[in-house]
This record gives sequence, C-alpha cells and structure tokens, in this order.
Amino acid sequence: MARERSYQCTVCRWQGTAEPVDAGDAAPCPRCGVYLYPTSWARTWGVALLLVGGTLGFVFAAVRLLR
Ligand SMILES: [Zn+2]
Repeated sequence: MARERSYQCTVCRWQGTAEPVDAGDAAPCPRCGVYLYPTSWARTWGVALLLVGGTLGFVFAAVRLLR
C-alpha cells in the first residue's frame, strides 16, 4: 500500500515524499534518520500547541488574579 506523504526534515533540511511506517503517519528521514511527521501534521500540531499555550496562559493569569 503506497500512501506517500510530503515531509520536511528540520535537522538536515531534506524535503520530499516518503511512505509512513506507522499509524501516526511518521516516517524516518532518508538522509539523517530523524523521525518526521507529515508537513500537514506539523501545521496541525502548531495550531494545537498555540491553543494549549493560550489556555495555559489564561489559567496562569486567572490563578494570579484570584490570589
Ligand atoms: Zn533529515
């Protein structure tokens, strides 16, 4: 089953398509062996991290105000 996805390595700057090796769509970089996630996933996780960071910031601000 060939379901190639586009990847971008943050370590060696390799860009291209590879076949995922697990259910999380991760694949090892063909050049340096670092585990990569599809570029679309990176974007999704970037948004998720922003949301988590915003929530944490709000919670910390609320805790400070309630003290
Ligand atoms: Zn790499």
